[in-house]
Amino acid sequence: MWRDYLGLAAVLAGLRAAARAPAPRPSLCVFCKQNGEARHIYTAHNLRGPGGRVECPVLRNYVCPQCGATEDGAHTRRFCPLTRPGYISVYRCFTSTAAAGGGAA
Ligand SMILES: [Zn+2]
Ligand SMILES: [Zn+2]
Repeated sequence: MWRDYLGLAAVLAGLRAAARAPAPRPSLCVFCKQNGEARHIYTAHNLRGPGGRVECPVLRNYVCPQCGATEDGAHTRRFCPLTRPGYISVYRCFTSTAAAGGGAA
């Protein structure tokens, strides 16, 4: 039999364990995914890092129209803390406003 001078058995065991273990934090940006970006783009980064810091370059460039939050604290209007509970859709709000303005006889 052979002598394991280099500790190869332990190395191989470690490799097998690493292969079996899932990736600690797979990257996936739901913001880019929902925006219809290519898979290689939205799997290249996370939406948020540890501590809730925004990592998505697209979202970091976004400025919330309601509170002006951007970069580390960026969010879309839908997730804005100023958005009232029960608020449903920007589009519904927009169309109802337009209808009210144009429909007055
Ligand atoms: Zn992103
Ligand atoms: Zn906001």
